Amino acid sequence: MIYLDHNATTPPAPAVAQAMLSTLTDVWGNASSQHPVGQQAKGALAAARATIARALGCKPAELVFTSGATEANHLAVCGLHAASPEGRRRVVFSAVEHAAQLKLARALAARGVPVDYIAVRPDGTLDLDSAAALIGADVALVSLMAANNETGVLMPVVAVRDLAHEAGARIHVDATQWIGKLPFDFAQSGIDAVSLSAHKLRGPKGIGALLVRQGVTLVPQVQGSQERHRRGGTENLPAIAGFAAALEGLGDVASEAARVAALRDTLEQGLRRALPAVQVFSAQASRLPGTSYLRFGGLPAELVLQRLERLGVAASSGSACASGASDPSHVLMAMGVPRDAALAAVRLSLGETTTAQDIEYVLAHLPPLLRPLLEEAAHPA
Ligand code: PMP
Repeated sequence: MIYLDHNATTPPAPAVAQAMLSTLTDVWGNASSQHPVGQQAKGALAAARATIARALGCKPAELVFTSGATEANHLAVCGLHAASPEGRRRVVFSAVEHAAQLKLARALAARGVPVDYIAVRPDGTLDLDSAAALIGADVALVSLMAANNETGVLMPVVAVRDLAHEAGARIHVDATQWIGKLPFDFAQSGIDAVSLSAHKLRGPKGIGALLVRQGVTLVPQVQGSQERHRRGGTENLPAIAGFAAALEGLGDVASEAARVAALRDTLEQGLRRALPAVQVFSAQASRLPGTSYLRFGGLPAELVLQRLERLGVAASSGSACASGASDPSHVLMAMGVPRDAALAAVRLSLGETTTAQDIEYVLAHLPPLLRPLLEEAAHPA
């Protein structure tokens, strides 16, 4: 199988599986227990926390382990909102946040919390005028993704951070798609809270973190004494060890980004040359290196995905979290893409395990399968 769905999840690195297995068998104590079995687990937890903190440029105490980015996002939004001063109740999201985050936004609105959405432009980039108009003195928190999981578009996090801070609000960034693919340093970012997920960077699923800048108060959403009282529950040490191994194994992120971006560009240029009906969404915007969100004329996404599957290529029609739904992508809708074009959207996302041979294979075999379908669609019998 050629795996072109790295934005949904990434294959765990061999060192990750090894670290998890040895932790599961050898360091199975509860890190809160006082006896030597527990103290061994406590030591392993501290070591993994230090490794992860070093890789992310944060202090170990700024790291709160969660079950993944969905929970980290929830903790950031609800935890920072609950800690905000009187008179600051409003929460501002972008219109293209992750589906789970937008569900949370709607749940907050249903509870009476004022919620606003920053608009995006037709190319999927954030509309900074809209951001500036919405971020005022009553805003508790702005929550923005660093990079969109569907289009790959990079968001102007620094500009929005400044707008938020000038207004006296907190800024939370969902960097789930960014970290591991592009260089990141929490200390330099100046962001109040950042979410990430291990399975997007070759680690295990079900583990992630919220980085919370020292001095930023957060009301816990799951009570318990772990994680400095910010997130209760016995720590998932095997997963945390796998998370640490994944970050340690990342290598030179910038040069890997350049390699993957070159493969992505070859793929897009080759597909466009072979099939003029190909349209790449957000083609002119700054994007994640490995993300290509495109449509093959008006061919429905399912039809294209069936052909890809026949070729042994795994891809998706957008966010894995929304797939199966026949609704068009909320991201493309926010960009003003017509419904038919949005229903044709296919996401090919490349990553560390993608090779030049994989791309050559797709370019050699996909166009001949789709060409007759496109001709038929253009000239129905
Ligand atoms: N945010 C973004 C931008 C994502 O792409 C994802 C994963 N699809 C998540 C949050 C959720 O991450 P997790 O699977 O760790 O809950």
